[in-house]
Order: sequence, then structure tokens, then C-alpha cells
Amino acid sequence: MCSVGDSFGVELEGGMEVHEYVCNNCGKSFKGIGSNVGCPKCRSKDVKCID
Ligand SMILES: [Zn+2]
Repeated sequence: MCSVGDSFGVELEGGMEVHEYVCNNCGKSFKGIGSNVGCPKCRSKDVKCID
């Protein structure tokens, strides 16, 4: 799931959740942390969670 603020899911020591995302603009897949996720390749914010 992609909801932010839930306590379940993968967490790092800092408590930030990591999710797998794919960019809708360029198609790159990447891991994003937190709620402010952008594509590392094209900087698009048009991304979707795929995990
Ligand atoms: Zn992109």
C-alpha cells in the first residue's frame, strides 16, 4: 500500500517508510522515502507506488 502515516510497512531506523515507485513520465523505477517523492531521473512528481 502507498498510504503515508500508517505504522506498518517497511521502515528504516529513522522511521521513514521506503516504497518502490515507477515514474509515469519516463518509466524509471526507483525507491522513494517519505511522502515527497520525485523521479530521480527526470524530476517528475508524476509517480506511482508499485509495492
Ligand atoms: Zn521520470
